[in-house]
Amino acid sequence: MILSNPKGTQDFLPQQSRQKHWIETKFRETVALYGFSEIVTPVFEHTELYLRSTGLSTDIVTKQMYSFVDKGNRELSLRPEGTPGVVRAVLQYQLKLPVRLFYIGPMYRYERPQKGRYREFYQLGVETIGEAIPETDIEIIEMGNRFFNNLGLSNVITKINSVGCPICRPKFRNQLKMFLDKNLSDICEDCKVRAEQNPLRVFDCKEEKCQDIYRDAPKITDNLCFDCQNHFQVVLNELAERKIPFELNKMMVRGLDYYTRTTFEFVLTDSKELGSQDSLGGGGRYDNLVEDFGGPKTPAIGFALGLERIMLALGAPTSIKKLVYIIPLDSNAYQHGKQLVSTLRNANIPAMLNNPEKNLRAGLGTADTLSCNYVIIIGSNEMNKKVYTLKDLVKRTQQEIPQDKIIETLKL
Ligand code: AMP
Repeated sequence: MILSNPKGTQDFLPQQSRQKHWIETKFRETVALYGFSEIVTPVFEHTELYLRSTGLSTDIVTKQMYSFVDKGNRELSLRPEGTPGVVRAVLQYQLKLPVRLFYIGPMYRYERPQKGRYREFYQLGVETIGEAIPETDIEIIEMGNRFFNNLGLSNVITKINSVGCPICRPKFRNQLKMFLDKNLSDICEDCKVRAEQNPLRVFDCKEEKCQDIYRDAPKITDNLCFDCQNHFQVVLNELAERKIPFELNKMMVRGLDYYTRTTFEFVLTDSKELGSQDSLGGGGRYDNLVEDFGGPKTPAIGFALGLERIMLALGAPTSIKKLVYIIPLDSNAYQHGKQLVSTLRNANIPAMLNNPEKNLRAGLGTADTLSCNYVIIIGSNEMNKKVYTLKDLVKRTQQEIPQDKIIETLKL
């Protein structure tokens, strides 16, 4: 039997799970301030959903989907991203609009694994469906910034662009196509295909020689229609006014087909940990997706953040756990310890009792292994004096605490 996890997946051992939970809690707190409610959708959907939304010319759909036929002959795929499932549910249950939803869960893409890039990874995402005004774009970007600040990550900048709409994009597409046709012999094989199928996607290419060429290419941002230009200008002005750090990036088109108007990425400014995987999240408007799914014309905007990348940016979590380890030194103290462990738990203080067959030394060893923050020692001396010996394993201090003061001391 192979005793290792599948390539591209990760186990979250207790220490990482604690950090994951902490990040998720901060996320829930932040998005609640902006009126978002949670939605949970399945980790697999009908494959067609992603073909129709994420897009037939995207890498995600052409190369990265975990697709399978189930025993009932249904064509299904593990979700590579959250938005299509959320939009599907909003339409299926005819949720009243506007609606602000968030989700947290695993996504699946068959990628080449490397640090910060996995085949199973978690995203924290939000979707605002039914709001067209540029103020919504600003709120969403501000919320992302607030979340990173709440995590203590102050080195995140928003890279922003506008990819236009079905009015301005076709005209621009032709312009770009002409440019690409002129440079066809110098661009990579993948870009030749992109030039045919979805010219805008060439800006996503990682090849340096292609990037050099595209620096001189026409940019959608300079060719927006009047309404898109107005919308984008309001977003940029207001971001500056709110002092949200951002950078216009005309080459950023993002890897999904459904984006319209504002698109953005949250990027680490000093990414020692993440190298080229410095994008902590991204998103944008998708004003036509609901209609493409057969629903009414409904503007929308959202983003998705990568949990593992946020963890890498934060660095290793502290190993200390809020857990009190009680070590009674004799059978009399053990009876007392049994009561104490339940008193602490009743007061919502996590606690464990040492195995009576283990001595003090072994008990301290276990407390260390479990990364407890406190140890309570109860011997005959403590029993006589009605105190506990409380060891703080973080501060490396030790003191005697009156037994009836232990809860308030631990809750401080
Ligand atoms: P996307 O859904 O492609 O717009 O990605 C949004 C964010 O999810 C990225 O900025 C990353 O932080 C994260 N992400 C995307 N793909 C992966 C992956 N394969 N492994 C880990 N994180 C990912």
